[in-house]
Amino acid sequence: MRITGYQSHGVAASVALVNAVTCDEGDDSPEALRAVLRDNGFFWQDFEDAHADAFRSWAWSLRRFFEAGELTQAVAVLNELMLETPMHPHLSEHGGLGLHMHYAPPSARLPLRFRATTLMHISTMVCEHGLARSGVCAAPDCDRVYADTSRAGRRRFCSETCANRTNVAAFRARRRARRDG
Ligand SMILES: [Zn+2]
Ligand SMILES: [Zn+2]
Repeated sequence: MRITGYQSHGVAASVALVNAVTCDEGDDSPEALRAVLRDNGFFWQDFEDAHADAFRSWAWSLRRFFEAGELTQAVAVLNELMLETPMHPHLSEHGGLGLHMHYAPPSARLPLRFRATTLMHISTMVCEHGLARSGVCAAPDCDRVYADTSRAGRRRFCSETCANRTNVAAFRARRRARRDG
């Protein structure tokens, strides 16, 4: 089981970025983007306000992956994004993190480093699980995306809130159907 390892932080960061930038209730201010990086183990200290647009446009690119309904479509999106993202994989050890992979060229600035890492972590997830672990929230009126890196991997909602209110609605619909039928 590798999916539950530290390698999944790029997946969690992708979800947080897409939800911050592309969703109705999101916040794509530089402060919010910096928080996305900080909360997901990226070098938020390197974030400059001038990077915000690069992160916003990357969020819309990543959203295409989460919205892909079929695996072939998702793979096409990821391969297209990989062609557009300069990569130069190398091993690195810093900040007590232990030896790990960096995917962007060593001289790359933060937006490109983020692009390369998120892309590789999402691609690894897709190689292992197809589209079974990610997508757009199943609640009818929610446009947020999710990815499940837990061992069970059965999530279909962006949050407990959406899961609960959808389950309650389904329960009420069943009860109504029973009563009316
Ligand atoms: Zn690193
Ligand atoms: Zn939701």
